[in-house]
Amino acid sequence: MEMGGDNPISIQTMWKESIIPVLTDENTLNSILNRLNSLSMLGCDIIRFAVPDMESADALSIICKKTTVPLVADIHFDYKLALRCIDGGVAKIRINPGNIGSVEKVKEIVNACKYNGNAIRIGVNTGSLPKDIAEKIEKGHISRSEGMVETAFREISVFDKLNFHNVVVSMKASSVNETIEANRAFAKRFDTPVHIGVTEAGPLIGGIVKSTLAFSTLLKDGIGSTIRVSLSSTPENEVITAGEILKECGKRSGGVKIVSCPRCGRNGFDVHGFVDRWQNKLLSIQKDITVAVMGCVVNGPGEGKHADIGITGVGDTVIIFKKGKIVRKIEAKDADNAFREELLSL
Ligand code: SF4
Repeated sequence: MEMGGDNPISIQTMWKESIIPVLTDENTLNSILNRLNSLSMLGCDIIRFAVPDMESADALSIICKKTTVPLVADIHFDYKLALRCIDGGVAKIRINPGNIGSVEKVKEIVNACKYNGNAIRIGVNTGSLPKDIAEKIEKGHISRSEGMVETAFREISVFDKLNFHNVVVSMKASSVNETIEANRAFAKRFDTPVHIGVTEAGPLIGGIVKSTLAFSTLLKDGIGSTIRVSLSSTPENEVITAGEILKECGKRSGGVKIVSCPRCGRNGFDVHGFVDRWQNKLLSIQKDITVAVMGCVVNGPGEGKHADIGITGVGDTVIIFKKGKIVRKIEAKDADNAFREELLSL
């Protein structure tokens, strides 16, 4: 996948469990493959896996051979893990030359990447800056965001000397301001594509708020070639959040737009339950339509009159409408099936 320049901004997430069971259990492999496919349907372009040992590298190689979704191996310290993953077919590796140990080992990785066409992401986090840079920050000589940029520059220089330029850089802090400052300062000095993200952003709601603030600011500045929302939640929620941010920032278009009411005391239809059941399915549809999910017939069809399809209800009756006109009245127990039929007929 091409990154940077005029290429669309890609969405990534990270796999959240060990993949070692793949080595011995075909059911686990199949369920991972199905979930990768679902994440891709939701708009995810790249999925990263932690590779802490050789078993994980072998498992990732098996997964790579069975999916068309570009996968990234996240590696620390051991260059042999990187070589195994590159050989196994990953699209990209995330590794920092600074923690590989010697230039010779970095050179082996670079040569393998050049040969196979892999990109490398340098991942700079405030929590793991080189000792000398961390000391400068502690002594107040530079800010944490300056420390991140200096670290990124140092890591890029290693690849530059090896004439390797297929590089993406990330500078992540759990502070929104530090993340913005570092990425802005970096973008002023370098053309290298940037992966943006707020690290350890927190649980669902707090993490969404922080990511939205940081991303919308950076994206409006034209910074960011690929984004990852980090949440203490599912990869699906990370992908949905990233997709919604890109859409609202005008960086991605198309797909289903869900308009749903917050519900109030007038409600006759379980908006929350319906949205919970249908959100991921709807957002996986590659069709430019608006779906309205409204709590009551008083305001539902009226407020949702621009929607291509909508649903609301009163008592035990559920109403499906299209462009504000009622097309079906059914019992609540038949609502999902009827909605599916009407959706398919669009
Ligand atoms: S659509 Fe009806 S239930 Fe939903 S918020 Fe408006 S008035 Fe309340």
